[in-house]
Amino acid sequence: MKVKDGDFVMPGDVLGIIEQFLPGEGTYDNEGYIKSSILGNVQINSKMKTISVMPKSGKPALLEVGDTIYGQITDVKAQRVNVNIDRLKNTTRPLALPYIGAIHISQVKEGYLDKLTDAFRIGDIIEATVVKITGDNVDLSTVDKECGVLKAMCTRCRGYMQTTEKENELQCKRCSKKEKREVSTNYVNE
Ligand SMILES: [Zn+2]
Repeated sequence: MKVKDGDFVMPGDVLGIIEQFLPGEGTYDNEGYIKSSILGNVQINSKMKTISVMPKSGKPALLEVGDTIYGQITDVKAQRVNVNIDRLKNTTRPLALPYIGAIHISQVKEGYLDKLTDAFRIGDIIEATVVKITGDNVDLSTVDKECGVLKAMCTRCRGYMQTTEKENELQCKRCSKKEKREVSTNYVNE
């Protein structure tokens, strides 16, 4: 993976190697690889040889029904998961409000989902569409194939997980544990 100035990156994405850059704000050094620690846009300072990730820029945006967002799962309950809505897809504009997102169990996929822990876990980074807005409360859906989990960490060792041949299954790179998720077609394998 070769990143350019302005590229949108996610936590854990490799930005470069330590011989190329000094790891700046929003990054960390992982055994010689510089990785992003946040969702944001790459900023390369070629003079200083630093690489950073900036969380947000531009004019604030209000969410609308039909928008696609990136967020992170903050809680998994019996009937719904809570989502920290981080940003709109395809723009670096920050959100005008600190929206509170949630996905009801009926809005995860087409057909029946037995339990929400088969779809999401705390810390998962997801893509979802806005289906309803009430003040700063936003109902989200991941029924669309492109929606769902983009990046997940193993619940046992916190290593990043990879897709397998099986639909909606991920496997930990580090400890080989398999877990179920509502996996997006845009899932990011490292
Ligand atoms: Zn693991």
